[in-house]
Amino acid sequence: MLHYSCDVCKRPIDVHADVRHVVKIEVFPAVEEASLDSCCHGDPAGAEADHLEAMQELLEQMAENGADHDLSGDDGARSMRFDLCDACRQRFVKNPLGMKPGKHFDFSNN
Ligand SMILES: [Zn+2]
Repeated sequence: MLHYSCDVCKRPIDVHADVRHVVKIEVFPAVEEASLDSCCHGDPAGAEADHLEAMQELLEQMAENGADHDLSGDDGARSMRFDLCDACRQRFVKNPLGMKPGKHFDFSNN
């Protein structure tokens, strides 16, 4: 039988009594494709070729620069997965990034 525990409060999650919630977080560098496309309207074939050529150069550069690095983390991409109990799930969806309620933003008089 599998046992789960909440990754936030470490409480064991009894899957028969509680609902186990899974949080998946993907972090990756955004590639701004739109800026590449906007300069090449009317010539899709050429745009494709340019794009492939640029990609090829990029890959070659990466291969050279990254030769003696561990590539697994070099692009900044991360994939994380957490199990949450119901109480922590509710807190998480209200404040996914765990930001402290604001000393800097005092809107309490609203
Ligand atoms: Zn919890």
